[in-house]
Amino acid sequence: MDQKYDFKVAMEEIIYSIEGEGESMGIPTIFIRTSGCTVGCAYCDTKSSWTVKMDNIYDNDRLFEELTIAKNKTGIRRILITGGEPLEQSTDVSKMIDFIDFKFNGYFNIEIETSGVYNLDLIKTNQQIFFIADIKLKNAGSHARNKAKKGEPIFSSAVKPNNILIKFVVNNRKDWDEAKKIMFKHKDYFYAVSLAFGQNNKIKVRKDVISEIAHDMVYDSGFRGVNVRLLIQIHKIMGLY
Ligand code: SF4
Repeated sequence: MDQKYDFKVAMEEIIYSIEGEGESMGIPTIFIRTSGCTVGCAYCDTKSSWTVKMDNIYDNDRLFEELTIAKNKTGIRRILITGGEPLEQSTDVSKMIDFIDFKFNGYFNIEIETSGVYNLDLIKTNQQIFFIADIKLKNAGSHARNKAKKGEPIFSSAVKPNNILIKFVVNNRKDWDEAKKIMFKHKDYFYAVSLAFGQNNKIKVRKDVISEIAHDMVYDSGFRGVNVRLLIQIHKIMGLY
């Protein structure tokens, strides 16, 4: 095979489930979860994925075998490459995307979920990829915020706004005010406001905060022209991760 497709990706796991949030919420999905993340969000509930698992490397053959099984077993067509932080292995992840497309002849619809602290142009593929990217608010902690440089990497990337869903994790009024300012400044993008339920529903967003968010989305004139939706994270309610 052409060497341009050769990759080695350190993997956390590959699982089948339903999409828990975002534009494709509820859709059966193959999750390719790369390992390794140095972003360090304060609220991260997948800390086990921070370590790069050098003993779980996927190359072309191994991935092809696994995706062939997935395709035959489930018929699922959507793949979400997530982490950890897939952009920390961007060169190999880019080749992996082109390899999947080539070997499965466009059967899979591939999306990438990223922390949003890296420029999306790091992914260089022949495919038009849809990105789901966070903007790290203050609630993510100073480590993540310093890496993110206040969310600028998304807005300075060459990826077109309609190929990105920007996600905010919100659980109180302060988070909401911060998110609103960013949405009002960059109106061309598509946004999802994710209410931050904790694992097994342990963290609850107050009802008055949810009502305020909904009220603002409907009545605040700043939202005119902003493509936004309010979501819960159903994978958290399901206790998946
Ligand atoms: S980017 Fe994701 S995996 Fe990395 S620390 Fe933040 S929440 Fe956790």
